[in-house]
Amino acid sequence: MPTKASAGPAVKKSSRSPTSQSRRNRSPGRPISAYHAHVYYDPEKTRSQAENLRQCVAAAFPDAKLGRWHDELVGPHTRSMYQIAFPSRLLASFVPWLMLNRDGLTILLHPETGDDYRDHTAHACWFGAALPLRVEVLRKDAIR
Ligand code: ZN
Repeated sequence: MPTKASAGPAVKKSSRSPTSQSRRNRSPGRPISAYHAHVYYDPEKTRSQAENLRQCVAAAFPDAKLGRWHDELVGPHTRSMYQIAFPSRLLASFVPWLMLNRDGLTILLHPETGDDYRDHTAHACWFGAALPLRVEVLRKDAIR
């Protein structure tokens, strides 16, 4: 958290800042409660990479929650995957680690703001080539 920085560029901390009007077409300013990284794999070809990554995450980031293996497609996902849920405080350490250690696997990183649709589309960040998503199954403004 930036404290009383008097030097350097001003940091807008509040969604009620004077610029919020011009941001109407951007995120509605919902707070991010946590993040998900969805790790995609091919059960026949890249499961071992996914397994290795999973073990490394468990060892290096014990506060990250590893979801179940989903060989069968679930939700908006069009490939097999498992989810890693992690708190915002891990972002600065976990995301660079993932960039360096994903071993060719495609990963979808998204925030959890309560708006599933935007979180998986406008707010999404892909490591590797972006995959299609069945976004029609995502509810807008859904609170989970
Ligand atoms: Zn997710």
